[in-house]
Amino acid sequence: GLSGQRGWKPAWRDAAPKPAYDVVIVGGGGHGLATAYYLAKVHGIRNVAVIEKGVIGSGNAGRNTTIVRSNYLLPGNEPFYEWSMKLWEGLERELNYNAMVSQRGVLNLYHSDAQRDAYARRGNAMRLNGVDSELLDAEGVRAMYPFLDFANARFPIRGGLLQRRGGTARHDAVVWGYARAADRLGVDIIQNCEVTGFLSEGSTITGVETTRGPIRAGKVGLAVAGSSSRVAAKAGLRLPIESHVLQAFVSEGLKPLIDGVVTFGAGHFYISQSDKGGLVFGGDIDGYNSYAQRGNLPVIEDVAEGGMALMPRIGRVRLLRHWGGIMDMSMDGSPIIDRTPRPGLYLNAGWCYGGFKATPASGWCFAHLLAKDAPHETASAMRLDRFRTGHLIDEKGVGAQPN
Ligand code: FAD
Repeated sequence: GLSGQRGWKPAWRDAAPKPAYDVVIVGGGGHGLATAYYLAKVHGIRNVAVIEKGVIGSGNAGRNTTIVRSNYLLPGNEPFYEWSMKLWEGLERELNYNAMVSQRGVLNLYHSDAQRDAYARRGNAMRLNGVDSELLDAEGVRAMYPFLDFANARFPIRGGLLQRRGGTARHDAVVWGYARAADRLGVDIIQNCEVTGFLSEGSTITGVETTRGPIRAGKVGLAVAGSSSRVAAKAGLRLPIESHVLQAFVSEGLKPLIDGVVTFGAGHFYISQSDKGGLVFGGDIDGYNSYAQRGNLPVIEDVAEGGMALMPRIGRVRLLRHWGGIMDMSMDGSPIIDRTPRPGLYLNAGWCYGGFKATPASGWCFAHLLAKDAPHETASAMRLDRFRTGHLIDEKGVGAQPN
């Protein structure tokens, strides 16, 4: 600050596109950048470009509420998200970058016997996979968060499922850390360059058309999150994905108020507090399909009602800002990391509202797929054709928490 920001060196090069690369990744969010980093670091494939239509991190990577956790139920998901959790635990050393990974605990509240049973099942599934989980009763929750509404609540708090290793990470820093590390390994990060179509020979994809000219590629990987269906349509693919807006909210800065992440189980509301003091919270997706990066008032009201039902003390806190991002909602709530029917074109999509926590493992597994043409073992169920074959990973259907 005292230097007036003079003489600061950019942390990564603003590369101009070359005519050809071994691998082109479309989308400079967390997943695209992580993929490029692991391609270069783990597989030695360094002739790689990440192509981003805006600036890196301007999509969902920079808009999410930063929750990381691995409290999934189903075998198709749990080992993958736990692998991601392990990568989070070593990420700052790996990238030599302060990503502010904070394992402050994620607590999912339950409000009925049936919900308790479902959470007990989820916690047991986690433990079978070697993942930490604790089922708390109401007194256990009260000891952690005495200010939640235990007295007059319409949906009394009966307890919660706690993952102490879950928490938050600074989303922008994750993008910047991967970008700097990938750049240092030779990856070209090309910003303000929109992919507008694909180059092909027969059915094989051989590159991309962009607003800065054609770029040939041995392989093309899509990691465009909320734009997945639109970009894939340019290659003639119709994906099992719908795009919806998800909003997030930040309050004015407050003294320390809530030191973990808490999710309401009787409505859509979840909350944590940033190191700057702002309460960071959100709820459900807007109720209609959209590619707009902004949401509407009915969901704002719904989120505020959820917050008041859980934590009445926030009633007079002032909201500073809110925004929206585009969610690539898959039909079973689980992601896709797979080849596509077009040879040379690979897909990373369907992260719904929970893809930030997946960033390291998504990059790791997508890089593995691109390098070896075979799925990584923890992502082997995340197939594109499962909606046709019936091998769904129906995490949504078994009561998954948002975010
Ligand atoms: P993005 O950052 O969206 O990256 C995709 C990039 O592709 C964008 O930068 C976009 O500009 C670019 N692109 C699109 N089309 C083109 C094109 N034609 N050419 C070139 N580039 C293109 N997840 C969690 O795990 N925990 C949370 O707490 C959480 N909270 C969330 C709260 C909100 C409000 C939102 C919006 C999302 C939340 N998520 C959360 C979800 C998470 O942010 C996403 O699943 C994840 O960021 C998606 O991966 P990404 O970072 O690669 O996406």
